[in-house]
Amino acid sequence: MARTQLEAARDGETTPEIERVADRENRDREFVRERVAAGEAVIPANRNHGTLDPMIIGADFATKVNANIGNSEETSDLEGELEKLHVAVHHGADTVMDLGTGSDLDRIREANVAHSPVPVGTVPLYEAVKRAGDPEDLTTDLLLSVIEKQAEQGVDYMTIHAGILLEHLALTEGRKTGIVSRGGSIMAAWMEAHGEQNPLFQVFEEICGIFREYDVTFSLGDSLRPGCLADACDEAQYAELDTLGALTQVAREHGVQVMVEGPGHVPMDRIAENVERQREVCDGAPFYVLGPLVTDVAPGYDHVTSAIGAAIAAREGAAMLCYVTPKEHLGLPDREDVREGLAAYRIAAHAGDVGNGLPGARDWDDALSEARYAFDWSEQFELSLDPERARSYHDQTLPGDNYREARFCSMCGVEFCSMRIDQDARAEREEGELEELNGETDLAESSAAEVNLPPVGTHETGGDLDREYPRPEELSADD
Ligand code: SF4
Repeated sequence: MARTQLEAARDGETTPEIERVADRENRDREFVRERVAAGEAVIPANRNHGTLDPMIIGADFATKVNANIGNSEETSDLEGELEKLHVAVHHGADTVMDLGTGSDLDRIREANVAHSPVPVGTVPLYEAVKRAGDPEDLTTDLLLSVIEKQAEQGVDYMTIHAGILLEHLALTEGRKTGIVSRGGSIMAAWMEAHGEQNPLFQVFEEICGIFREYDVTFSLGDSLRPGCLADACDEAQYAELDTLGALTQVAREHGVQVMVEGPGHVPMDRIAENVERQREVCDGAPFYVLGPLVTDVAPGYDHVTSAIGAAIAAREGAAMLCYVTPKEHLGLPDREDVREGLAAYRIAAHAGDVGNGLPGARDWDDALSEARYAFDWSEQFELSLDPERARSYHDQTLPGDNYREARFCSMCGVEFCSMRIDQDARAEREEGELEELNGETDLAESSAAEVNLPPVGTHETGGDLDREYPRPEELSADD
């Protein structure tokens, strides 16, 4: 049997996937191999996913963002699902999870894998429940057959809810919001109905055998993640985390890659504790966090509440962030929600990378800032996280081509454009015409008055748009 990425890395082999991710991340190949061999980074790359461009998930690499796609019973069609995949990848998703629970699951999953250049994750429990008809009718045979079929289809990583145990259920009784993980609630219902241990826990080593054959990566599900701030960091959450730590070691012994999922809803002051504890208990396995939301009061804006938590988690060492859309808690996201969620999370991921001093991360910020100060609008748009959004917002008020080099935008207007004033002042200082600014500019005497470009909110002008200004690079570096 072919070796997994983990086994090959342990044997000292630099696989083509390791070479590819080293190039993509601009990192040394041996460094990548060592991190994979140690289990501190994973390369989810199912042998049957032919369209995959390999990527890496680990705290030492750029923070990644996952987008959830998939249908529900209320909305199901293949074209719509492929469009969601396209929107997610277009807007920068590093992985996608197909969380479909509607009809035609097999065909949609196969199409998603066949069209996706990024790793595809699933929660096989959802399909198993659809097939069983009722969570209580789940059997280990059914679970294993669904897992094996999805592995064969080329799914790169799977959420397996094996960490929630029979003895954990009593720990959730005092919670405000009980068990909020879909998979967790299903396994809890099964255990309560049968009075037996979690079947996914019971057959965990058999699942390892399937994963090893196809090189599927575990995403160990956090079934007992807190669903509100009041339940964060409670006994139930941390008891399950201990089980996930033990399962991490079992999977690694089988040569299978592992990442571990995390909360949920956590107040800002306890996010660091969550990341540190996971890293310690799970021996450095990449932490894949769902948010966390730092307040419960903003349905409709939970891409914001959770991106705040995600940025903190990234700064503390989380390796991948599962996005949240504005529809969280309210409904199935549409393509615009996917875009909003991804933008919020890519900002969180990048902010974490910059804060952590990831090599090269801040180059992007510096390049955009230089384009901004140079009033190179086209370059600024191209460098923007969401170029279409940046261009469109700018052009709402100043749409003409002549504004592509304008030394202002409609936010402050030409007279109060601080960067233009600053550049003019620099130029004047350079020419010895202005000794001291004292933070003030006499508009009547300034070049702003001469330019007299249009009032804010219009694009008509009687001004001289061809007027030439000194470019920043022409100014003295000493200034
Ligand atoms: S007008 Fe204001 S926001 Fe616009 S470029 Fe100038 S300083 Fe920046």
